[in-house]
Amino acid sequence: MSVRVRIAPSPTGSPHVGTAYIALFNLAFARRHAGQLILRIEDTDQARSRPEHEDHLIRALRWLELNWDEGPDVGGPCGPYRQSERLPLYQQHARQLVEAGHAYYCFCTPQRLDSLRAEQRRLKLSLGYDRHCRDLPLAEADQRRGEPHVVRLKMPLEGKSVLQDTLRGAIEFEYGLLDDQVLLKSDGFPTYHLAAVVDDHLMGITHVIRGEEWINSSSKHLLLYERFGWTPPVHTHLPLLLNPDGSKMSKRRNPTSIDYYRRAGYLGPALRNYLGLMSYPPPGEDEKFTLEQWVASFDLARISLGGSVFDLDKLLWLNGRYLREDLSSAALLGELKNWLFNDEHLGQLVPLMHERMETLGDFLPKCAFFFARRVECNPEDLVPKKREAQEAIQVLQTALWALEGALPLNRDRVEEAIRKVSEFWAWPIREVTGPLFAAIMGQKVGPPLFESIALLGLDLSRARLLEAMNVLGGLSKKKAAELEERWKNKL
Ligand code: GLU
Repeated sequence: MSVRVRIAPSPTGSPHVGTAYIALFNLAFARRHAGQLILRIEDTDQARSRPEHEDHLIRALRWLELNWDEGPDVGGPCGPYRQSERLPLYQQHARQLVEAGHAYYCFCTPQRLDSLRAEQRRLKLSLGYDRHCRDLPLAEADQRRGEPHVVRLKMPLEGKSVLQDTLRGAIEFEYGLLDDQVLLKSDGFPTYHLAAVVDDHLMGITHVIRGEEWINSSSKHLLLYERFGWTPPVHTHLPLLLNPDGSKMSKRRNPTSIDYYRRAGYLGPALRNYLGLMSYPPPGEDEKFTLEQWVASFDLARISLGGSVFDLDKLLWLNGRYLREDLSSAALLGELKNWLFNDEHLGQLVPLMHERMETLGDFLPKCAFFFARRVECNPEDLVPKKREAQEAIQVLQTALWALEGALPLNRDRVEEAIRKVSEFWAWPIREVTGPLFAAIMGQKVGPPLFESIALLGLDLSRARLLEAMNVLGGLSKKKAAELEERWKNKL
């Protein structure tokens, strides 16, 4: 049987380097075994999934030189490859489980579930569904199907399942501890668990290679395979990407969006090489290698469980080698044009600079920060007069949260976000824009702030705000958590 693997991202935000890392391993495994890689879009979270995120994701993966054999953009024999287009399949499979007595219709209202949870909290019990509808006779449930309902999996009340993970060996799960998982939501959409299992089966997936954060879900998946009478694929859970301090890689420490790296001027092949190097260094001296060279030495079973530390300095060094060794000057010129020296980007930038130039020669110096990977900011410019550094740090942090809540950024949404920050702190707007200006531009004068942030984009803006906060001494985890609580309550 030929090897078939898949990557199954959810298009709910900026494409994440973690997605590229998982994709790279799946690609290598498929190529090593002359198999196929499938891209499946898991867009069943209607509130958060957006078609533009899917486009974005596909462009980001292609920029990294990653290609797949089947997917929503290239087609294939097992389509559609977008879960939102496969709803009848999940509904049929849910019904099949209900009829076989392995799942049930649940009519509990959100109000009932809320008060159940409140009661469980009050009594300090573990939270979970109390299986109220589990034993409703099917005939009775069928008569009530005009009422809002979900389908839940009947978890066995005792016993255990055992996951055989390629890297980790046997992992046991006690069934009795697991909730009766919702499989189909009241809007007729499946949850991740049902959709992933049905699709992995129908798409002929032989090996599931994904991040270790999905280990616990596997217990439910294994039960589903058993209930359907299907053979589960071989499971491999890969170690996480880590920050240099060993914590899980997060956008609070390292940029995690693939777009950040593209926008900051890295080359796709260099980032692809780096992801391979940090997680699976091939034998041999040279740390720079093509995808083919990496794939040729790839052996899934040899992956170390230690986790891979994302080291920006190393990536920078490698990127420099790609620029110098792989690009002719003509090719470099092409890269620069593709990157930011193109009509689309310059066309948005020029109007911001129009009123601020005496000669054409003023253009570049005054907006160089748009093209810079990072800017140096002077601590004095980051703190308004008569304010403390700690205050400025907190203002920058809330500005970052406000911008994160204002996507997709445009001038007016940025302004609205910054006004919220000014109200939150009861600081005049100028005292908020001053530190932001310095953090984003690293200079005292420049084009208008709101337009600049919108054009620079959230990823680069975030990196600059975090760097400015660090220049001022940073915010402790505890303080950040307290502040976030206050910020959320105020919104
Ligand atoms: N949709 C899940 C994700 O966003 C896929 C997890 C899996 O590979 O099963 O990563």
